[in-house]
Amino acid sequence: MRLRHIPGSEKEIAASPYVVQNPEEKKGRWNEVFGNERPIEIEVGMGKGRFIMELASLHPDINYVGIERYPSVLLRGLQKREGLELDNIFFMCVDAKNLMDIFEPGEVQKIYLNFSDPWPKDRHAKRRLTSEEFMEVYDKILKPDGVVEFKTDNKGLFDYSLEAIPGEVWEIKEFTYDLHHSEMGEGNVMTEYEEKFSSKGNPIYKLVAGRK
Ligand code: SAM
Repeated sequence: MRLRHIPGSEKEIAASPYVVQNPEEKKGRWNEVFGNERPIEIEVGMGKGRFIMELASLHPDINYVGIERYPSVLLRGLQKREGLELDNIFFMCVDAKNLMDIFEPGEVQKIYLNFSDPWPKDRHAKRRLTSEEFMEVYDKILKPDGVVEFKTDNKGLFDYSLEAIPGEVWEIKEFTYDLHHSEMGEGNVMTEYEEKFSSKGNPIYKLVAGRK
């Protein structure tokens, strides 16, 4: 999602009580940020954040961190956050490639990747959020039994991910080429992109990856 730059968005984000500033300083201390020891789940590339905010309201016993690298996009999420009575969600404006500087090994229980940018050109493959490079980052912060859940309507990116993820560390635990008509879709929470593309008739693909 590339929104036009919104002037002043950085300033608003820096002043927001919902955004964790200097998140590297919280490494190993996220339980203090939330004030409890509940498990932490994160969404990488949350966009406007509808998905993770809905999860937070459905699961008050879980802590959530929404990650978005563009201030203008995160600002839209903050506007949605206003007025919601939630004490189990924070946001960060960072690039996910730096997550191992922000979380200790095992500090995260689950990682959600939703409708990640496809980066179709081979020379940009490393930027895909399911590339080997990013899976290495996730390996450094996820609990041993933690999982990565990835949804998309982009078949090229999905097929790439099914091939690229399995290796020495990771395996695909389950996947579907039609989430909305499969058992994996039970209790599914839609993202902004999911709503848009599924309403056009696009099937939604999902995989869950975990350690071997
Ligand atoms: N997850 C949302 C949804 O499903 O509606 C938004 C999808 S949008 C296509 C992907 C988002 O991921 C964009 O807002 C983009 O800025 C963000 N993103 C992509 N790469 C990222 C990275 N390395 N770190 C943080 N955010 C990233």
